[in-house]
Amino acid sequence: MIIVMQIGATDVQIQSVAQAIKDRGFDPLVLPGEGRTAIGIPASLDSDQRTLLEVQISAMDGVSKVTQTSRPYKLASREVHREDTIVKVKDLTIGGGSFVIMGGPCSVESYEQFEEAARVVKETGATILRGGAFKPRTSPYAFQGLQLEGLKIIKEIGDKTGLVTITEVMSGDMVSAVAEHVDILQIGARSMQNFPLLIEAGKSGKPVFLKRGPSATIDEFLLAAEYVLSQGNPNVILCERGIVAMDKSYTRNVLDLGSVPVLKEHSHLPVIVDPSHGTGVARYVLPLAKAAVVTGCDGLMVEMHPNPKEALSDGSQALTPAQFQNLVAEVMKLQAFVSA
Ligand code: PEP
Ligand code: MN
Repeated sequence: MIIVMQIGATDVQIQSVAQAIKDRGFDPLVLPGEGRTAIGIPASLDSDQRTLLEVQISAMDGVSKVTQTSRPYKLASREVHREDTIVKVKDLTIGGGSFVIMGGPCSVESYEQFEEAARVVKETGATILRGGAFKPRTSPYAFQGLQLEGLKIIKEIGDKTGLVTITEVMSGDMVSAVAEHVDILQIGARSMQNFPLLIEAGKSGKPVFLKRGPSATIDEFLLAAEYVLSQGNPNVILCERGIVAMDKSYTRNVLDLGSVPVLKEHSHLPVIVDPSHGTGVARYVLPLAKAAVVTGCDGLMVEMHPNPKEALSDGSQALTPAQFQNLVAEVMKLQAFVSA
């Protein structure tokens, strides 16, 4: 439910409405906007509660109207929060018109490999360095990542290069350890509905990069974001990384680029596209990256390995340093054109 205050409503009127909501056992969310303030009630209300609140709050001084949110998510909704969310990480902003490129290997494999990847990322002008330390692998016999050792490598190289860093955290009990080593917590596609993990990531206050589950609907995706937001952490970044493919013989997933304008319309959160996991094939990454730019996304996540043939995970979708360099140049050119 959203209470829209009148233009020029006074602070006292706004506070009285917020207090009235608290008195009825709910947590009001005051959302100052351009011209007028809205107050959200981020809770699932039954119809009796809704009617009662609507009648009582509508009658209060300074209230323009009381409306229902039309979607099950509240804090993630643009109905509740009209302006774009801008996530600030170090000197970088994600969302609100800036465009970021995240690059790096699927897995951190050694200090030397990650240092070389970071050098390439920095040289191209991309600003965020990715690399998995804990890897969610389909097979328990596949490389599981360097784990704590990998986290230390990311931290050292992040500090040395000044690049913003991101890595995946797979369980709630690892959130604080991972948060100590990187700037952004990635929640992988397979973990999108690991609710205790979402709650811990929310509590950490760190920016959370949430990947869409392989078979998640838009509502499920935004409700997963809602778990993080409802912990008082507004720094959520959405990532479209492809959904289950009907025909896996050509691409690993179907990159759902249609989700970008939908997410941008219904949510205020930044949206990043990952054409690497979205296709699973290195030569398809550039065309899909370019297509993503035109959809109005806020950036890209792209896998790049100093030597893809030797990669311990996702080698077939990793760009070489030269291909990555070319992608960044092409994408930035296109982005300048699209945003002009
Ligand atoms: C990754 O980013 O390396 C990864 C495992 O991605 P996803 O969760 O999208 O499969
Ligand atoms: Mn990967």
